[in-house]
Amino acid sequence: MLAMNYRGPYRVRADHMPEPRIEHPNDAIVRVTRSCICGSDLHLFHGLVPDTRVGSTFGHEFCGVVEEIGPSVRNLQVGDQVLVPFNIFCGTCWFCERELYSNCHNVNPEATAVGGIYGYSHTTGGYAGGQAELVRVPMADIGPTVIPSDISLDDAVLLTDAFPTGYQAAEMGGIREDDTVVVFGAGPVGIFAAKSAWLLGAGRVIVVDEVEYRLDFVRRFAHCETVDFRSVRDMAVHLKRMTDGLGPDVCIDAVGAEASGSALQRLTGVQLMLQGGAATVLHWAINSVRKGGTVSIVGVYGPTFNAVPIGNALNKGLTLRMNQASVKRHLPRLIEHVRAGRVKPSELITHRIPLEHVADAYHIFSSKLDGCIKTVLTM
Ligand code: NAD
Ligand code: ZN
Ligand code: ZN
Repeated sequence: MLAMNYRGPYRVRADHMPEPRIEHPNDAIVRVTRSCICGSDLHLFHGLVPDTRVGSTFGHEFCGVVEEIGPSVRNLQVGDQVLVPFNIFCGTCWFCERELYSNCHNVNPEATAVGGIYGYSHTTGGYAGGQAELVRVPMADIGPTVIPSDISLDDAVLLTDAFPTGYQAAEMGGIREDDTVVVFGAGPVGIFAAKSAWLLGAGRVIVVDEVEYRLDFVRRFAHCETVDFRSVRDMAVHLKRMTDGLGPDVCIDAVGAEASGSALQRLTGVQLMLQGGAATVLHWAINSVRKGGTVSIVGVYGPTFNAVPIGNALNKGLTLRMNQASVKRHLPRLIEHVRAGRVKPSELITHRIPLEHVADAYHIFSSKLDGCIKTVLTM
């Protein structure tokens, strides 16, 4: 079968690779029909996630048709159209019982923190990903969700990660009626976080980025205000000025480790090393949010960051919340929002690129060329 093949930082290609097989009675094999590239894949692509092995296949945002099921699978049938949440989880452990699927205890026992994720290095279990014609889906009774007939495949594939993650970012913000919410990052996750902030009752939503076409898009899609951070000298001062001097009630980090921006550029080489990278957005969020406010983090951080202004967070009495999203928990509610026409996730899809051109697809998304917001690989 054709599959994306990681060859080292900034090098991916499509190759013929061995087809997956049922390895456990509760596995299914899914024939992939749509598979997205995520901002999280860029951390892998840029070589920033430990234990990302050459020869692995990425891809944790996919939907497809069930091709084969293991003997103990009860909830799926061959031919079902399914969307597959990016988390791999058992459904029965202490964490899954509390719907903390992203922290499942049973799928990735060697790791100390995170549960299983498709195509996301050996730190999340070493599972093959779905940027391929076929993929093995473990615990197939639990994760995959049959796509309702009135939900399009393009909408469905964005329910595997980007929309639920943006929603969880807003939810972890504990937004109260009329709150002002600032979202850092106008990538797919930030765009959905902005949209979700309104769904959860925000009174004002402001999105920060530097990529003009993404800021344009989020203004249209989520009817929010935007800030181009290239024109801002001091983010905390700027956001306080915009919010009667108090600062926003909630700040959301939808950027993560690869943040660019003035705080990073002002650091010297040694400072950068001490800091372990660029935690620009964490600085901006903690320093901008009002006293007693909440910082919600879904942006992914690979390495350790040791220069986060935690003292400032303490003195301001902040609530910090963060996690990988537990996709399955949000699906019933988000499917209703799509059905009711309140959100049209597929509007984010700007590119459809055949899997054989996966190298071009990564290049375009990584370099933000050609107005790219979300790329779907087609098989
Ligand atoms: P993306 O790369 O498309 O978007 C990131 C955006 O951040 C870009 O538009 C970029 O211009 C912008 N940006 C860079 N520096 C910035 C700064 N200093 N201030 C404001 N904006 C800045 O990625 P995405 O798909 O939207 O994902 C965003 C983040 O969410 C990534 O870190 C990804 O790994 C993470 N993620 C987390 C989860 C989860 O479950 N927690 C799930 C999916 C993605
Ligand atoms: Zn993703
Ligand atoms: Zn579990």
